[in-house]
Amino acid sequence: MTPTPDSSADTSAATATALAPDFAPRLVAWQRQHGRHALPWQQTRDPYRVWLSEIMLQQTQVTTVLGYYQRFLERFPTVRELADAHLDEVLAMWQGLGYYSRARNLHRCAQAVRDQHGGAFPPSAAQLAGLPGIGRSTAAAIASFCFDERAAILDGNVKRVLGRLLAFDGDLASSAQEKRLWRHAETLLPAAEADMAAYTQGLMDLGASLCSTRSPQCLLCPVQDLCEARRRGTAEQFPVRTRKLKRSRREHWWLWLEHEGRIWLEQRPARGVWAGLWTLPLFEDEAQLLSQARLLSAQAPEPLPRIEHALTHFDWVLHPRRLPLQQAARPGEGAWVAREELPRYALPAPLKKLLG
Ligand code: SF4
Repeated sequence: MTPTPDSSADTSAATATALAPDFAPRLVAWQRQHGRHALPWQQTRDPYRVWLSEIMLQQTQVTTVLGYYQRFLERFPTVRELADAHLDEVLAMWQGLGYYSRARNLHRCAQAVRDQHGGAFPPSAAQLAGLPGIGRSTAAAIASFCFDERAAILDGNVKRVLGRLLAFDGDLASSAQEKRLWRHAETLLPAAEADMAAYTQGLMDLGASLCSTRSPQCLLCPVQDLCEARRRGTAEQFPVRTRKLKRSRREHWWLWLEHEGRIWLEQRPARGVWAGLWTLPLFEDEAQLLSQARLLSAQAPEPLPRIEHALTHFDWVLHPRRLPLQQAARPGEGAWVAREELPRYALPAPLKKLLG
């Protein structure tokens, strides 16, 4: 659909104002009766636990998060214990959840809470949003769940729900249009602080269930008679977002050195792709890899099937070459790691798969 129009500005604002008295009570009642209540992070108002779940749930399914959440809390029962841990251990425990920048920010945030807030999360969305890795929506979710603050959330699912409810046709690729939707999200908040937790959870539950990207189940929806997109029969056209992610392609060669069951691993720099993770030495082309290999062995490395790995902004083609060594030479900064020690190292998913 054609993105739009500032002329729609008044329309969606007026729709939000008109729906505000009915929308929140309807959603709160639905959440209390039909929403999710049994998730472990819903049994607490401890900001540490709520924050941990919110960060883990970004880009990850609830069923995947459950086990990680449990293991993290067993190992790090308090934010101080997480802050005091070594980053390598946090990254290793994060393996499998992906998007490792979340784990690095998790650790930095725990340290900021320890060092700047005396070990207690600050009790307002505005202060929470100042901590590493906590965006405006996550800050609002924590503040509403733990402190009943009237703060609006607007993650991807909620943009879809509110975009449809208001038939908001502003293009969300534009930050000005996104700000407009934030204002509408604030207009729609419940009047009573006591309803904030159920309301916030209700928006999340509706976005994760009935108001799905494709084929929303409007007939079961608690706000179907309020929903402007449903009235028009155009639910799947919202939200509007025109910008397509431009994907590029990169190609690298991986040198898999092995000596007596140990594998040579190098840690990636603290910034950039796979920051802080341990990988095989990476080369920009095969000639560079072969010249390094010749310094280590008279034998030629064995080519293995290529690996295609999709990251957020690009597709990565990796060509592994395996070379057993007679001597445990040190080709650079890194470590010889025995196979049984590998679980203690945070490895990128394709390497974990390659090493079996
Ligand atoms: Fe989403 Fe349909 Fe409900 Fe509208 S009526 S909020 S499109 S599920």
